[in-house]
Amino acid sequence: MRRLLASGSALRLRERDAFWDRRGRLLGHGPDLSDSASIDVDRITLRILLAEAVGDALHLGRGVSGVGHDDHGAPRVLFTDGAPLSADLVVGADGTHSVVARHLAGGPTNDPAGIIGFSGRTHRRDLGPGERRRLGPRSGLAIGPRGAALYVGFLDPVGNTALDAPELRMSVTTAPTYIWGAMFPESTSTDSLRGLRGGELQAALLGRFRERGWAEHTLEVIARADPHSVAAFRFNAASTRAEDLAPWPAGRITALGDAVHATPPTAGMGAGAAIRDAAGLLTHVSAAADGAVTLTDAVEHFEAGMRRRGSEVLTLAMKTVRWILATDTTLGAAATLVSTPVLAAAARLRH
Ligand SMILES: Cc1cc2nc3c(=O)[nH]c(=O)nc-3n(C[C@H](O)[C@H](O)[C@H](O)COP(=O)(O)OP(=O)(O)OC[C@H]3O[C@@H](n4cnc5c(N)ncnc54)[C@H](O)[C@@H]3O)c2cc1C
Repeated sequence: MRRLLASGSALRLRERDAFWDRRGRLLGHGPDLSDSASIDVDRITLRILLAEAVGDALHLGRGVSGVGHDDHGAPRVLFTDGAPLSADLVVGADGTHSVVARHLAGGPTNDPAGIIGFSGRTHRRDLGPGERRRLGPRSGLAIGPRGAALYVGFLDPVGNTALDAPELRMSVTTAPTYIWGAMFPESTSTDSLRGLRGGELQAALLGRFRERGWAEHTLEVIARADPHSVAAFRFNAASTRAEDLAPWPAGRITALGDAVHATPPTAGMGAGAAIRDAAGLLTHVSAAADGAVTLTDAVEHFEAGMRRRGSEVLTLAMKTVRWILATDTTLGAAATLVSTPVLAAAARLRH
């Protein structure tokens, strides 16, 4: 945990988030972050730390083809290669297209959210002085008409370190970096981008923003990204209603994280929710190991908490998804066009 904290970027050291229009005009700010106890951690750093902690029990490259029960009624995992494995408890943490959750629910647990996303990483030092100043040491979101949105997240695990312990630091991000996410409503035109990679994808993405009238300087963060970092994702989402999540009777096969509550990245909370699921499961299973409750009861309590948490993060994430999709309607596009200059003028007066 100390190594993770030492590799994190503290939100309290970041300036307030900013909201812009497609011309780069400031529309407003997010809340003051100076009291925030949250930290941003780099996904790759987190994975390395977790993999090290699990050690030899981690078997990479083995595909799970199904789950079921053995002749003694114990949960069993089937692999694409190799012999099946029986266990006391099987937990599917196998993401959006989970084999385990699909087996338990009798079908998919989520659907495409209607948005396609693209992400990339850009060193702050690679931007020109104008954009470096405009974006600043903060995260921000720009939404334009016709469903185009660009989130720019600021990560600086060295300058904004959460814990002053350089000897423990192992962050893979060592310089101030913008990790950005571009979003468009799914359509035949944006879907075709999913087949592209690297520089080709980056160029096509810039083209989609230019078609929608985005000012050239606002696209610098995409244009100056490392082409190898640019990738496409389809957003999937489970139901926002707690009672729809994990729709199965509790037993000794369960699932957690995106397998149960697939969450679009629009709230930046899906991985956090998956980690909290794992912590909840550990608490309840420990009570079963102490003999305080049966394993099935422990799983039932865990799943109840997971439904609540999943519904909370999905509700937040879907707000932004719906907002982006609304700007793609005729009325929404017109409202965005009319309202953003007014909001920009009001923001200029305030500052
Ligand atoms: C672009 C993007 C940005 C995001 N940003 C954030 C953010 O800032 N903060 C945040 O909290 N969340 C974020 N999220 C969401 C977050 O990534 C997910 O919610 C999180 O990864 C879910 O974790 P998980 O362990 O449930 O599933 P996953 O991370 O999807 O892990 C599932 C694992 O199971 C493996 N697997 C799948 N099927 C099988 C099989 N049959 N056999 C063997 N292995 C299998 C996969 O290879 C994978 O390793 C983002 C998502 C995207 C796409």
